[in-house]
Amino acid sequence: MTFEQGPIRPPSEAESLFIRVTRNCPWNKCLFCPSYKGKKFSRRTVEEIKKDIEALARAQAKVKAYARELGEGLKITRKTLQAVYRREPELLQVAYWLYHGGKNVFLQDGDNLIMPAEQLAAVLTFIKEQFPTVERITTYARSKTVSRRRVSELQLVREAGLNRVHIGLESGHDPLLAYMQKGVNAAEHVEAGLKVKEAGLSLSEYVLLGLGGRKMWLEHAVDTARVLSAIDPHFIRIRTLTARGGTPLQEKVLAGEFKLLDDDSVVNEERLLLANLQAGSYLVSDHILNLLEEIEGDLAREQQALLEVIDSYLGMPLERRINFRIGRRLGLYRYLRDMQDLQRFAQVETIRVQLEAAGQDLEEFLDQCRRRYI
Ligand code: SF4
Repeated sequence: MTFEQGPIRPPSEAESLFIRVTRNCPWNKCLFCPSYKGKKFSRRTVEEIKKDIEALARAQAKVKAYARELGEGLKITRKTLQAVYRREPELLQVAYWLYHGGKNVFLQDGDNLIMPAEQLAAVLTFIKEQFPTVERITTYARSKTVSRRRVSELQLVREAGLNRVHIGLESGHDPLLAYMQKGVNAAEHVEAGLKVKEAGLSLSEYVLLGLGGRKMWLEHAVDTARVLSAIDPHFIRIRTLTARGGTPLQEKVLAGEFKLLDDDSVVNEERLLLANLQAGSYLVSDHILNLLEEIEGDLAREQQALLEVIDSYLGMPLERRINFRIGRRLGLYRYLRDMQDLQRFAQVETIRVQLEAAGQDLEEFLDQCRRRYI
């Protein structure tokens, strides 16, 4: 019962079934990206992928057989998950997927639209045949790759079953895209995003807050808002930069060449980005490294309210902002409103005062806390 699995997926696809269509990233040069470093890109044949899909379908049948044996009928319950875990843990991914409804599939890895459209369509058709209950199939893709595709090719894969494309836009500022070796420019980002939409696919664009560092934060915010406004994607997903171990960006940070922003500067940048956006997208902040998780909503209706949330944070006295940052990074707070829980507030305040009394470097402490999540 073997099938390949890639290393990553978007948080929004945590409950999806993963089917590996290509291996790693064909570009693999972005300075900040640790996902596929040291791993070589390779294509998979349609036959190879179909074998994986067949193995996953057999796994599905086995999990359902466990459920029947346990008297759970067609429903995959926690009891079934526990039985699978004890007896055939290699089926757990499929069991977990079925437990969550068995409706979504995410195609791994980093840039599957690099595959010839006819081949990808054959894979998608096969997924639909083997898993008729699937309602949504999504994939990562690079803007550069999509900009070279014809809309008719994207339509072909959409008709075969692809629903959504996740693109790492990161920034709309050309000098920053060049510095970070993203391998794409703002015009190509726009071209790719518009093609995805024209083909009738749903589009998620990922933005990396903090990517401009101290030098380019302002241009990063303004140009990213300009590019996103031109694309007007269905979803804008916020991420926050960390210089992860083993990345070229971390070397630049250690060498003092790239200066990271602290949390408050990132929030300032986020405000500028949000204030300049002219889009009807749904803004999502679904990553643990984002400071303000509540910056999420429909821009057409809630943009002003989201700006007010940011202003409420920036308007707090310094000590309260530090309290929130410590609580958030320690996992004691999720939202700003959690500070109203007096017991939790006092708990965080005790930690803050102790850190201060010990002469602890706050940024260093918060950085260590952030790293627990990556
Ligand atoms: S294109 Fe995406 S997956 Fe590839 S190196 Fe850049 S950020 Fe990483």
